Amino acid sequence: MSDSILVINCGSSSLKFAVLTDEGQTVLLEGIAERLGESNSTLTFKKEGLKESISLPEGTHKSAVAEIKKWLDNRPTILNSLTGIGHRVVHGGETFSQSVLIDQNVIDGIAECANFAPLHSPAHIIGMYAAIELFPGVPQVAVFDTAFHQTLAAEQYLYPIPMALYRQHHFRKYGFHGTSYRYISRRLAEIEPNSLQQGVLVAHLGNGASTCAINKGKSTDTSMGITPLEGLMMGTRCGSLDPSLLSFIADAEGISSAQALDVLNKKSGLLGISELSNDCRTLEDAMASGNESAKLALDMFAIRTAKYLVSTATTLDRIDHLVFTGGIGENSSYIRAAICQQLKAFNIHIDSDKNALRGATMNIESAQSQTKVWIIPTNEELMIALDTINLIRQ
Ligand code: AMP
Repeated sequence: MSDSILVINCGSSSLKFAVLTDEGQTVLLEGIAERLGESNSTLTFKKEGLKESISLPEGTHKSAVAEIKKWLDNRPTILNSLTGIGHRVVHGGETFSQSVLIDQNVIDGIAECANFAPLHSPAHIIGMYAAIELFPGVPQVAVFDTAFHQTLAAEQYLYPIPMALYRQHHFRKYGFHGTSYRYISRRLAEIEPNSLQQGVLVAHLGNGASTCAINKGKSTDTSMGITPLEGLMMGTRCGSLDPSLLSFIADAEGISSAQALDVLNKKSGLLGISELSNDCRTLEDAMASGNESAKLALDMFAIRTAKYLVSTATTLDRIDHLVFTGGIGENSSYIRAAICQQLKAFNIHIDSDKNALRGATMNIESAQSQTKVWIIPTNEELMIALDTINLIRQ
């Protein structure tokens, strides 16, 4: 078996993993540990279409990595082919502008960024220590969601607040989904090599959602900020709004600002408006049955996405390509059509028959469109595996 890479993505209460081989092209195994930190944690393995779930009595990230190791111990062909482990890291602050081999300095650097991602960074670090202990001698790589956006100019990444706050506390826009945007830029260049010299606008629309402008292969602006709360309306996040609302909500509801922030992170967005669900598919089904709130939530999502696409596009000379990706971007023809409807003034038009298709890489613009419009399924695991392979080979 050719070299394989274990990709680990530790979230606050979950751990997703995959083993990729053939230069990242083949997924041998994937799975997820869910409800970590609770009494009913489970670990699910998926291999060749078969699913197997076990309970995780300890319910920790470390016990999840230990069970993955145990599973691999029983499949020595895969275990012996493992040449590296790639970890997804949400926040690399200003310290990390590219993927790096993990050593103690790197772990310390990730810990220093933890105040910006307090739920994720500690989980990443636990996952790294567990993997280092359980897979001794296997090189480990950290791949950062923020790294791709380190090319933003100061005019784009600074907030118009006192400069001392930036100097002392590094309060600035960092942006996220960078691994996805890097993959999209690379994949588009495989199909359209000229795109590396052109202006590309990407909408990564999933439960978390953001936009990115990529000029000549480099990120020039993105909608998310110091945390993934800024920018687009999302599944449960409000996106950008007047910051005064935070204290209005806290005062009106008699809650702390941390609790008010929780409302904006976990109870807003599609869920807050529809009062039904954060899930686009559920809302589309409800809309089809006449639910007006579901339609309002979806239409607001589309309109606000279009606004941010235009705003991020101000860093491009031309919008040569518009790419939709993420669970919603790849699958929802309703949302894509509603977004492009708002972009007519920018000469972006899609073909409704092509837009009805989904799932594969394809272009869906109509003949009159001055911008090529694409659906490209993202593949962050592949990007993490490729970075891991490249760093190990260096
Ligand atoms: P992600 O976070 O990228 O996994 O995307 C999750 C979002 O994609 C959820 O809101 C899903 O409802 C949405 N999604 C997935 N498949 C479809 C579909 N066929 N139609 C509409 N939305 C979908």
